[in-house]
Amino acid sequence: MVDDILKRAEQGCVLHREEVVELLSIADADLLKKLYDTAYRIKEKQVGRVAYFRGLIECSNICIKDCYYCGIRRSNENVERFLMDEDEIYREAIWAYEAEYGSCVIQAGERQDEPFIAMIERTVKRISATTGGQLGITLSLGEQTEKTYQRWKDAGAHRYLLRIETTNPQLYAQIHPEDHKLETRKECLAALRRTGYQVGTGVMMGLPGQSMGDLADDILFLKSIDIDMVGMGPYIPHTDTPMGKAVPPYTELENKQALTLGLKMIAVTRIVLKDVNIAAATALQALEYTGREQGLRCGANVIMPNVTETDYRPKYQLYDNKPCTDENSTMCRGCLSGRIKGIGEKVGFNERGDSPHFQARTAE
Ligand code: SF4
Repeated sequence: MVDDILKRAEQGCVLHREEVVELLSIADADLLKKLYDTAYRIKEKQVGRVAYFRGLIECSNICIKDCYYCGIRRSNENVERFLMDEDEIYREAIWAYEAEYGSCVIQAGERQDEPFIAMIERTVKRISATTGGQLGITLSLGEQTEKTYQRWKDAGAHRYLLRIETTNPQLYAQIHPEDHKLETRKECLAALRRTGYQVGTGVMMGLPGQSMGDLADDILFLKSIDIDMVGMGPYIPHTDTPMGKAVPPYTELENKQALTLGLKMIAVTRIVLKDVNIAAATALQALEYTGREQGLRCGANVIMPNVTETDYRPKYQLYDNKPCTDENSTMCRGCLSGRIKGIGEKVGFNERGDSPHFQARTAE
């Protein structure tokens, strides 16, 4: 049965929900290999054997939200808060440009106040002017008004990542406080699309109480909103959060299981969505050192090396045991490039690496 589903998927057939559930439920090692190999062949055909780097700038851990799973949630008093100034963000973006990364991602906890919005606007404009618009600028700054999305787009940003985390309303309500609404997030994704961004979203997998049916629905949701980029990662508990307090740290076996689920989600997403960009999340490496390369081999084509100054990195811990927090940006570039070559792929240096799905969608 799995063989048939994979064959039909490779021929371009649309998979039904039950078939997506069946692929996500694979446990047999031989079938898993077939799943990953099929996803890799589809990736090669649709986006090539190229990994694109996005230099990740984690510019602030101040957040107005209180998501129950997140290490930098506003109620966590054990976090030393920071906000980089404009010069620091600019310097790191230019470092990524000079390191030939092609794109950067500016990420922070959520803030909706005018001084923050204006600071991001000025910084994006400055980066865009210095690089002549050549450095791709992705923002990952949470829920905002359509007007704010438009201001940042006009300043020079062209991609936006806003993870939905889960599309199951009960599960969403279980992992967020009451005033964090799934509907608001969906409206923000629609606003981003209207504003003309390449839009990315994604989910967390391995949440307590989450089923394979939930994850299949998540993948089909991504398809239904015609998403351009996918960024998803395994749920890893953070000890200073309400959810982390209820879940003991993962055992070695649980790490392995979380990694396998993460890889299956990447593979099935590639099989179902085909020509989108899919990131191999840093969280995969928290579960196993080669987690991100394994993500590339299962269908991902984007990696986000951290270009944040080393001093800030330990303060941006969304989950426990985040890797690369004591390395500097040059070390990350060298280390990741070597590991990508090691799996027979090349790095798309100096390329923005826009999602082929976005290119096809906007050419229509
Ligand atoms: S997940 Fe995002 S919005 Fe939620 S608390 Fe963490 S940084 Fe803030």
